[in-house]
Amino acid sequence: TPVPVCDLVIAGASGDLAMRKLFPALVQRISEGVIPEASRIVGIVRSGETEDGLKDGAATRLKEQGLKSPDIDSFLQRLSYVRADVSDSATMGDLNARLDDPGRVRAFYLATPPDLFIPAARALKGAGLLEHDSRLILEKPLGRNLSSARAINDAVAEVLPEGRTYRIDHYLGKETVQNLLVLRFANSLFERSWSQRDIDHVQITVAETVGLEKRADYYDRVGALRDMVQNHVLQLLCLFAMEPPNTLDADAVRDEKVRVLRALRPIEGRDVLRYTVRGQYMAGSIAGRPVPGYADELGRDSGTETFTALRCEIDTWRWGGVPIYLRTGKRMGARCSEIAVTFKSVPHSIFRDNPEPNRLVIRVQPDDGVQLQFMMKVPGSGRLKLVPRTLDLRYDTAFGGRTPDAYERLLTDVIRGDQTLFMRRDEVEAAWGFVDPIIEGWNEFYATPHRYAAGSFGPSQAVGMIERDGRSWAEPEVQG
Ligand code: NAP
Repeated sequence: TPVPVCDLVIAGASGDLAMRKLFPALVQRISEGVIPEASRIVGIVRSGETEDGLKDGAATRLKEQGLKSPDIDSFLQRLSYVRADVSDSATMGDLNARLDDPGRVRAFYLATPPDLFIPAARALKGAGLLEHDSRLILEKPLGRNLSSARAINDAVAEVLPEGRTYRIDHYLGKETVQNLLVLRFANSLFERSWSQRDIDHVQITVAETVGLEKRADYYDRVGALRDMVQNHVLQLLCLFAMEPPNTLDADAVRDEKVRVLRALRPIEGRDVLRYTVRGQYMAGSIAGRPVPGYADELGRDSGTETFTALRCEIDTWRWGGVPIYLRTGKRMGARCSEIAVTFKSVPHSIFRDNPEPNRLVIRVQPDDGVQLQFMMKVPGSGRLKLVPRTLDLRYDTAFGGRTPDAYERLLTDVIRGDQTLFMRRDEVEAAWGFVDPIIEGWNEFYATPHRYAAGSFGPSQAVGMIERDGRSWAEPEVQG
């Protein structure tokens, strides 16, 4: 579908997300001609510089990110700024005057601190800006538990219907994540064995090498479970595990995703000691470089987890009895997001060497692609010897060219009005419904995270949790 002419309003236009993700995505889409010429980008700022100063600042940041000057220029031609406090409709006179064409698609992106979501939604409504076909885009985090997420969703629902609310989980904009749908539902080969009949277990790993970076206080209030599992990791799990939707319609897909979340067996009370692991990194080294521990980076002691591993089960006929191990952490040995599916062993081996089970790895980042491991005979005429070897299909070699960033896809989807890759209210709430009891269990029984050395893959307890089941974590391929 072609992208219609739009006014995209970004609140938080001087912030980190806008500079590092939203502006570069728009530069790219405008340079490709995907966003029509007549479209306008309006940045909301509260105070400070003149429009020229703001544009110069944006141009410098975009150049630093390797974007080309002509492309930056065409973006800047469409960019203008207005001054407003997004939580106060009385300050929105200029913005109202700027948005003078009701015939355009209008989208408001709240790239602001999340405590502004409710006041901003009300203020935009109060200023009469959410009329016509206006859309509201919310960044994560959507709340810090089920009740705060509900409060945000309720407040937004008062000013805008769900069909015009776009909750971003940028993982859903990643090419490989979308490819998961294609891999599953355009290839009969996999779908037939996608169940407890053939799959032994599943592992989802989202590992970062970075530590606290800039948002230290924010992170310390949130921790790995809320920051990564509630959204990105559970979204990957949903796409992996959902039943085939009958169409690619936004609601058909989201109906199936939410069913997965609702079928997750709750982990509550003392079960957190058996089915979850909390960790916090100590000093260590990553790729030969020494890095400080979490408390040193933060400047104080803290009980926040920077790593978590969970052993989950989905109580459905398809997945009953298949353990799903999730883990995510900061300062891990490699940056890697992947889903590793281990198939069942052959029922009876006729070889002296025991065949290893087949494993399918869907790599989301980096080096996105799909790898399938199976057993081969070592060439030669001696004793029949078996080894695992891998079929390796990488996106860059299969297709060449540049892989678009997630935000490029998501921003154009908002303008097109396609909600498939955005989280519906019930999904967000069902995800919190799974996470909340774990946090309550932690508060009661598991207040102190285990320590792990930066550069490892989490505390030994995470290894213990999977080894108790007679299994082991898939070793992510460490990138040089
Ligand atoms: P940030 O760098 O602190 O920027 C926040 C922006 O919001 C600033 O430009 C600030 O303007 C503006 N702002 C604050 N209060 C405002 C108000 N009342 N009216 C108008 N503008 C206001 O934060 P960020 O890192 O870009 O994050 C933005 C949102 O994205 C947050 O919800 C964050 O959790 C989420 N997020 C960010 C990232 C990331 O990589 N940065 C990743 C995922 C999610 P002033 O300059 O005037 O203060």
